[in-house]
Amino acid sequence: MTQSIAPEADFDAAPTLLDGAKNLILTAEHCNLSYWFTDVAQGTLAGRGATGHAPDAEIPDFMREIGNPLREALVLEFGFRALSEELATRVLSHYVANAPGIPEMEFFATQLVDEARHARVFREHLVELGVPRGRLFDEIEEMTVDYRRRVLGPVEEFTLDIVRDRKDFYGGVAVFTIVIEGVLAPAAELSERKWGVLNPAAGEISRGTSIDEIRHLVVGSTILRDHLLRAPDYRPRLLEILEAGRQLWNEVPDREYVIHREELFQKGMADHTDLLADYELWPGVRMLDTTPDERYDAAERWTDEMAESRMTFMGLPTDWLSGPAGE
Ligand code: FE
Ligand code: FE
Repeated sequence: MTQSIAPEADFDAAPTLLDGAKNLILTAEHCNLSYWFTDVAQGTLAGRGATGHAPDAEIPDFMREIGNPLREALVLEFGFRALSEELATRVLSHYVANAPGIPEMEFFATQLVDEARHARVFREHLVELGVPRGRLFDEIEEMTVDYRRRVLGPVEEFTLDIVRDRKDFYGGVAVFTIVIEGVLAPAAELSERKWGVLNPAAGEISRGTSIDEIRHLVVGSTILRDHLLRAPDYRPRLLEILEAGRQLWNEVPDREYVIHREELFQKGMADHTDLLADYELWPGVRMLDTTPDERYDAAERWTDEMAESRMTFMGLPTDWLSGPAGE
């Protein structure tokens, strides 16, 4: 018996993260536990449950060469993302605890598992790249010490204050949907496009996580839209939280970490021009012709575009978005 998978959860048919996040509409009621078991666990993840990629997805030998800048760039990227996803999982436990109803509780239970899975597949790929399993947790901890303290720590505190301490579930959803996921998602899209051609296994891992992120972004947005329709009085507080979150993100020094990885990527890319040839990172632009700054700026631009379309969907103003955000 073949069962049809919802197109947005189908590994091959799902839209790109940017398209999906801008154009899809999904509710928490629809994306309940039964949807998750059938369309995600047995759909998106069919054949990819253990590692996030198909067993025969290639990992080229150069990706396992110690000292290869591409390997270094990916170890850092996936190590950092593993930590971000781990912290996201832990924070989400408060969303489950404070969910106002069963649909929201079920949805956030699935999102919690999604993020725990993301952390796992990013970590497991480090082992596939040659990090000794016995050193895995220590290595991630060592490489992320500063990033955790300077970038993730402040964002985590900000979120916990709202969702755990003030028990403001909707404020928490806003922070997660617009600020946290909204900022990380464009980086994920970029990652998928960059690695798909150099390391197909890593490309599949990123693709699978992006499919989940589409759901997180659009369901979060729908929860907020519906809440604002029911409780228009909440609007000023919501805008205040979003503004504060946006400001916080502008203050944390994430750029230097991303640029460091992009510089390694740049060096590595130059050694593999044969593989890349005319591969376009976005329409009309060959990846080989892009610079670390251009790639970072593209992700920033996508962040603004996505935030703008989600805010419009929720009936919120977007004028402040490009204000203090410019670098
Ligand atoms: Fe995630
Ligand atoms: Fe997510």
